[in-house]
Amino acid sequence: MEKKIKACQSILDLIGNTPLVKLNQITQDLKGEFYAKMESFNPGHSAKDRIAAFIIEEAERKGILKEGSTIIETTSGNTGFSLAMVAIVKGYKCILAVSSKSSQDKIDMLRCMGAQVYVCPAHVSADDPRSYYEVAKRLHEETEDSIYINQYFNELNTEAHYRTTGPEIWEQTNGQITHLVACSGTGGTISGTARFLKEMNPEIRVIGVDAYGSVLKKYHETGKIDKNEIYPYRIEGLGKNLIPEATDFDMIDYFIKVTDRESAHTAREIAKKEGIFAGYTSGAVMQAVKQLHEQGEFTESSRVVIIFPDHGSRYMSKVYSDKWMEAQGFMDAVEESAQKKVEI
Ligand code: PMP
Repeated sequence: MEKKIKACQSILDLIGNTPLVKLNQITQDLKGEFYAKMESFNPGHSAKDRIAAFIIEEAERKGILKEGSTIIETTSGNTGFSLAMVAIVKGYKCILAVSSKSSQDKIDMLRCMGAQVYVCPAHVSADDPRSYYEVAKRLHEETEDSIYINQYFNELNTEAHYRTTGPEIWEQTNGQITHLVACSGTGGTISGTARFLKEMNPEIRVIGVDAYGSVLKKYHETGKIDKNEIYPYRIEGLGKNLIPEATDFDMIDYFIKVTDRESAHTAREIAKKEGIFAGYTSGAVMQAVKQLHEQGEFTESSRVVIIFPDHGSRYMSKVYSDKWMEAQGFMDAVEESAQKKVEI
């Protein structure tokens, strides 16, 4: 009898079940133990693979998607990549409206994955017809047999993490997790994961990471959107200028804000100290953990899970480029420069 070949049936079989990795050096001065949930181990290198597969498979189950259908979305890049990947494997078309704030690497990658990409101005309000929300809505109306994923307002985004990320963390920590620290963009990751974990143990503290220039923290504290809180910032995928319905604010105990500059330096520090080449928001969430330590959030018995959403390779022309860091005014320490000139 022919022996069975041990292979995944497609790249999509590799989504989820990402590893949890103990952080050893960067956390040396902090109380407790810290573990990174490595979402870069998804085949599309980010947590967004989970929602892309889950939302598309739900639509298939409901008969909404059929052969040749078109998937439409707005995205800072990661969700787009994941949707393009799932669309290719399953035989759908993919159209993406992305913000001009996204790195050129990300846009090139999306096009290489077969997606049709529309680049829209970043600093216009959400209801401006040029915004990526409005462009996606219009494309959805104009394209027959299309679905609009609408990750910021789609409860399936949150449910994908409730069904996968939450149970994985609970199982990996043997239920010993005391804190979850995660970035909030759509809020799907933090809300869905937290909902599962709090069902298992309501004592688990859930801390959301927000950007200066975003409304999430203030909204969580006051229930109001403060327009003065909105201004441009560099970190992609973190924070928001509107309130996403995918975020369940009741699941989040506290929001903490981080700066572009400190998050960038901390992303570089993760690489140098842990050998983990992670994305900009991994720097942001790690920076938040340092600030939380300063605020006395942790004790020696804390078991903290930190979600690292994506891989550093997506930021070669940004956080991991000395030139970019200098252009932002982030690079005042000479020893930071990786490029040492050799005198001949
Ligand atoms: N980090 C990165 C790099 C992202 O692209 C996103 C998604 N916008 C997030 C963090 C936040 O995840 P979520 O949308 O699930 O809140």
